[in-house]
Amino acid sequence: MAHFPPAFLDEVVARSDIVDIIARHVELKKSGSNLMGLCPFHHEKSPSFSVSPDKQLYYCFGCGQGGGAFQFLMEHDGYSFPEAVEYLAEKAGLEVPQDSERSPVDEARQKHAYDMLGRASHAMSRALDDEQGAKARAYLEQRGMPADIIRDYGLGYTPFGYGFMNKVFGNDARTNAQLEAVGLLFKGDHGYGDRFRDRLMFTIRDRRGRVVGFGGRVLGEGEPKYLNSPETDWFHKSDLLYGYSEHRDSIRKARQLVVVEGYMDVLGMAAHGLRIGLAPLGTAIGEGQIREIFRLCDSPVFSFDGDRAGRQAAWRALERMMPLLKSELTPRFLYLPEGEDPDSLLKAEGADAFQHRLDEDSTPVLETWLKGLKLLAGQGADGRARMAKKADTMLATMTDGYLRQAWRQEVEHATGITLQQARRRMSANPDASPDQKPPELNAIEERFMASLIQRPERIGHLPDLADSFFIDNAFISPLYSRAFSMKAEAEDDNTDIARQLAQEFPDSQTMISRWVNQATVQNIEFKSLLLDMEANDIRRRIKRGLSLAESIPAQTRLREIKKEQRILTEQLHETGA
Ligand SMILES: [Zn+2]
Repeated sequence: MAHFPPAFLDEVVARSDIVDIIARHVELKKSGSNLMGLCPFHHEKSPSFSVSPDKQLYYCFGCGQGGGAFQFLMEHDGYSFPEAVEYLAEKAGLEVPQDSERSPVDEARQKHAYDMLGRASHAMSRALDDEQGAKARAYLEQRGMPADIIRDYGLGYTPFGYGFMNKVFGNDARTNAQLEAVGLLFKGDHGYGDRFRDRLMFTIRDRRGRVVGFGGRVLGEGEPKYLNSPETDWFHKSDLLYGYSEHRDSIRKARQLVVVEGYMDVLGMAAHGLRIGLAPLGTAIGEGQIREIFRLCDSPVFSFDGDRAGRQAAWRALERMMPLLKSELTPRFLYLPEGEDPDSLLKAEGADAFQHRLDEDSTPVLETWLKGLKLLAGQGADGRARMAKKADTMLATMTDGYLRQAWRQEVEHATGITLQQARRRMSANPDASPDQKPPELNAIEERFMASLIQRPERIGHLPDLADSFFIDNAFISPLYSRAFSMKAEAEDDNTDIARQLAQEFPDSQTMISRWVNQATVQNIEFKSLLLDMEANDIRRRIKRGLSLAESIPAQTRLREIKKEQRILTEQLHETGA
């Protein structure tokens, strides 16, 4: 966490509206006092993502993501905490206080690098438009690339020879060193030189839409055909997908995503109205990228060339995908006819026919896997044994136990061989849960906390014995007692305790958001919860050992609670709730 003064953070939050921030990505509909929409963090068909405009907190009941405005910008848009604060402060017209712990030099260096990369992209676009860009323009025209795509995706040109970047940025030692750091110049025996020369340029952006690097395609003959920015502090090839920031929202809306091989495929699809393509940056797709893909869409289509190299690439993708597969994910594989790519097919057949291929010609991942195994293993009894063995090792990488079992049965069926090893490994290797579990609350505690956070005035009316309710829960206890003191300090009933707690206990923000956004706890339920909490508290004390003098009133009270609960249940039935 960076060190912004708390009062400043309060001011930033108070002047921002989380609904505005989220509504840019999620279509929200009113539902009671909250807003509901399809969760941008996991794929779903009916809304479980709730936003509370009053409390300025969001929570997803499907995947458990939750928090405030800063969290959303960090989790969804990829901001760092200081960046999220600065972004909102700037929008609200607030001056950001200088943070002594952050090096201003470093910050300036970051900002300068992004500025430089953005300016370079503009300069390349301009070069594409003027006379030196004629060859590149002719190529784009021949590929049928419309002007709006060329503009929106930041296509450009870098002229032949050296000196282009220096013409844009100047030629002093400091500038050259900076240009080298962002990957635009290289340092050779005779000084600095332009990395990209006489190439058609593709601007590559990060999740936030900032320019971080470039891909350059050779015009005419020459090697390599595609040259990318080198790895820099800003450009990490294995973390990026071409088209991500441009297509994130349209992919979620269309609930469709196609992974293609290259930049021109992404753009060719976009030119035909299919803004759902993503491509890795010239390397085989990695696990991190596949994870991002599944976060955007649960049924992506991975398309590959139909030739041998394409099949090998598909198999590699499948191997990387196996640890991430879950029963609710349904990726498909599409092999394109030999010699064709999405762009050429779209030109020849149009968008509808291509869509038809995506739907009808693609095969589910399991089918693709079985076919691939057969092909690898070959014919006869030997082949079946090889297939079983290979399947066994691959199955061991799967983390979804049910899916692994289902797939294993399919292989056993196909080969007639019982897979021993996979079964053994499975019992030795119980599914590791990858999620960090928040502190365990039982259903009563969960609803009880929700009842207080939703209506903090209830805190003021709690009996004294409520003080000890969470005494054994080291995580909730400080937050729970802080809620009491906040309530006592509060100037009026409108003091926003949920928001204050979320700020004082950042680790608990997701939990607090969940309490705020879940179904409202009505008064009868609250009374019943309070009795349950009291009963549990008494049972806990009995378990620890009570003296006889304490034990009798405790048992009496438990019986009374039971009676009161019965009355409440009757009332509940009468009100029809
Ligand atoms: Zn979710």
